Amino acid sequence: MIAKVPLLADSRKIYRKVITTYWIILFLSLLAEWLGALLWAEGRIERLDLGYLMERIIVPTLVQLAIIGTNELLYYRSLEKPEWVVLSGTLIAAALMIGNQGLHLEYILVLPILISLFFFRKRLLYLAFAANLLTFFLIYYGYSEFRTIMTPYDLCIFFAIMIGILYIALQIIGQGKQMIADFMRMMTSEQDLVVKNAVMDRLAKIDALTDLYNHKTLHEYLEQLIEQSNNNVMPLQLAIMDIDNFKSVNDTYGHAVGDAVLSRVAQALKDSLSQNEIIARYGGEEFVVIFPGKTLFEACQEMERTRELIYSIAHEEMKGSRISVSIGVAEHVRGKSSSALFEEADACLYYAKKHGKNQMVAKQHARKSSSPSV
Ligand code: GH3
Ligand code: MG
Ligand code: MG
Repeated sequence: MIAKVPLLADSRKIYRKVITTYWIILFLSLLAEWLGALLWAEGRIERLDLGYLMERIIVPTLVQLAIIGTNELLYYRSLEKPEWVVLSGTLIAAALMIGNQGLHLEYILVLPILISLFFFRKRLLYLAFAANLLTFFLIYYGYSEFRTIMTPYDLCIFFAIMIGILYIALQIIGQGKQMIADFMRMMTSEQDLVVKNAVMDRLAKIDALTDLYNHKTLHEYLEQLIEQSNNNVMPLQLAIMDIDNFKSVNDTYGHAVGDAVLSRVAQALKDSLSQNEIIARYGGEEFVVIFPGKTLFEACQEMERTRELIYSIAHEEMKGSRISVSIGVAEHVRGKSSSALFEEADACLYYAKKHGKNQMVAKQHARKSSSPSV
């Protein structure tokens, strides 16, 4: 699904920019009036009395100051509205037109249209356009000096240009919205891809029934850890755990119960062991744990605690019966391969199975004898 195009206008930053633009326009208009006064000094403007200053400079400037000041106040109180700030543009344009009736300043009415573009909303654009038309007609019919300089030709050109600018502004908004929609669509599909990759990655690494690492991932980690252990002399232990008489669980209670027991045993492993251990479902009812950085004694302590925990669980689906596990633990000998480590742990497990099950057997290398010890 394509995400909704966000309303870029809902930001106070835009109001700030618009109000700053109004201050710049005020400054520029004052600069222009000052240049006009300089020209008058050279005798090119006919009169410069107080009435002229009031009508042409002071009043329009005060009107602009009042409009910008009101906008500043609304902004300061967080009461700003895009409609008001756009209509303020029309009022500023009107003040400038009235202050300079003898000049062709009607094109200043482009200002509110451009301001409405800041907000990226067609509705504001239409509002600016309608307010412009109204303002133009009011000034045209209200101020004869302006009316006299506007020839029918000027009127036609003015309306043609205004409609042209409205059309261009509409295209800009449409184009911008399309770009945002395309961008959002691209972002969404990129996000989907990242999520899909993460899910695929997890599916490739994790066993679905028990939520433990699978056989393949366990071997990948083990190879890396053996390499590290060989380089850094870091101790590394490996435990293989097999559920005792699991076939009879399936045979007596069914495969579904067998599955429930498997996932409960997996949960017990997770609960009992620390997060530093790498726990995997190695095969059907066989689990493997890697203990990086732990001594054989520590690994044995943890596996013995786990064995006791598993044996303490009464399985409802099995009428409260318990299941036991047998465990073989071996220590990695520097320079030896992962298969050698597996063989040793497996030999311990075999020993445990042979000698009554429900127990843990470990291989201790410090001893001269290589026979497993319980
Ligand atoms: P031992 O004490 O010697 O380990 O006896 P066991 O019965 O546990 O050993 P065996 O290897 O004979 O049986 C393992 C059984 O595990 C056989 C198979 O039906 C069952 N099993 C393997 N994978 C699954 C599984 O995903 N779900 C269920 N429910 N059973 C499984
Ligand atoms: Mg078994
Ligand atoms: Mg087995």
